[in-house]
Amino acid sequence: MISLKQLPNASIIIPTYNRKKLLKATLLALSKQNYPKDKYEIIVVDDGDDGTDEMIKNLKISNLRYFKIKKRLGRAKARNFGIKKAIGELILFIDSDMIAGKNLIEEHAKMHRNNNSIVIGYRKEFINDKLIADPREIDFKFCEDNLGKLKNPWKIFYSSNASVKKQHLIVAGMFDENFKKWGHEDWELGYRLFKKGLQFKLNRKAVAIHQSHLTEYKNIQEMKKLLNESTNYFYKKYLDNEILNELKEKLEIKVGKLCNNNCIYCLLLGKKNEKNESLKQIKQHLATMVNKEELIISGGEPALRKDVFNIVDYAKRIGFKKVILETNGRLFCYKDFCEKMIQTGVDQFDIYLYSHKSEVHDKITRVKGSWMQTIEGIKNLIDLNAVVQVNVVVCKENYKNLLKITKALNKLNVHHVKFNILSYSFNPYKDMFEKFQIPTSSSFINTINKIRKASERQENLHDYLLKNKIN
Ligand code: SF4
Repeated sequence: MISLKQLPNASIIIPTYNRKKLLKATLLALSKQNYPKDKYEIIVVDDGDDGTDEMIKNLKISNLRYFKIKKRLGRAKARNFGIKKAIGELILFIDSDMIAGKNLIEEHAKMHRNNNSIVIGYRKEFINDKLIADPREIDFKFCEDNLGKLKNPWKIFYSSNASVKKQHLIVAGMFDENFKKWGHEDWELGYRLFKKGLQFKLNRKAVAIHQSHLTEYKNIQEMKKLLNESTNYFYKKYLDNEILNELKEKLEIKVGKLCNNNCIYCLLLGKKNEKNESLKQIKQHLATMVNKEELIISGGEPALRKDVFNIVDYAKRIGFKKVILETNGRLFCYKDFCEKMIQTGVDQFDIYLYSHKSEVHDKITRVKGSWMQTIEGIKNLIDLNAVVQVNVVVCKENYKNLLKITKALNKLNVHHVKFNILSYSFNPYKDMFEKFQIPTSSSFINTINKIRKASERQENLHDYLLKNKIN
């Protein structure tokens, strides 16, 4: 038990931009903490213009300090502003759409007895009247809640519910203000703190709930574009391949929307007839990408473009070290097509497959015979010594069979299997979760972690499953 005296003074920092209603719930929850009122302050940094100031005035929360900023700062700058103003020894970051559990501050504070901790709180999602597990649950389970076992724990540093001592933030240089918009500014700070030797600790009892809401961005493509820019910046700053390993799925160029499948889960929803970018536009886009380590070519079925070879060839000529083609794999049932693509310079093929059974896959793609062509494509590429990763989009038709699918792919000698798990956090998917009854990660997390553990230990999957009596 910690005595009252030992509890650190805490400053809760909340940047906000036009989220009056959500923020009100955040502040009300924070005003009712069981932490001594004189031991914490709430700092709101508001760079919006929706009348948040009036709302805050009416709330009359005595330990709240409100800063109205006239011009848009962005999250990184707004949080830094809050850190500089903070008088607390402990800084707790919360976003303006979170609702804190009653013990949130106490649960964070008591984990800081060790002076060099970063405490990761538990983030639940509230969507369609349901409480959903933290999107990082798969990592928490994987390391059995011991975050020190994770290779790159900075990737679980979400500024929506995390705490660090102020002195560490100052020494590390606080948030990098070059991250102007959404994405990665918290991971990048987590990366620096990690490199300085701070230890990541999880406290499942430090709960805050994320309120579902519309984002300020138009669609998932816009969000991905912003993430791409942030990834480029993050990588360029350190030139550390671990960053790319963690974020590589974000470094991509979408070359079109046309596709020969018609998947029920397709996110292109009614956009397939939109005009593709021209080869000239794509080349211009590629030339502006600073990080030339790895490029993913995706978008509809990119292999359908007649000029796909020119795109690959150009990417290689301007210096991309590794080119990955994201494809449904059907055209690769033609061996000469595979050979030409490999010769042109594709280093890895990421192929989408829904099931080890043709009837399940074809039902989702809504094209009879598509499974057969994709499987032939995988076999051809493996025969030609190409690197093949199979991406399985986890959905209600396959989530109970992930192990069987992995075993079947293992028999085909594919190099990697990746499970694409749709995230509740991204607004554009939310309707789909309801419509298609997409399972939540808690239904398949254990299976995925068994497969992941086998692969991290570089054991043969069959041996591992046998040894651990997993069927
Ligand atoms: S293969 Fe991809 S792009 Fe084509 S329909 Fe399916 S999900 Fe959409």
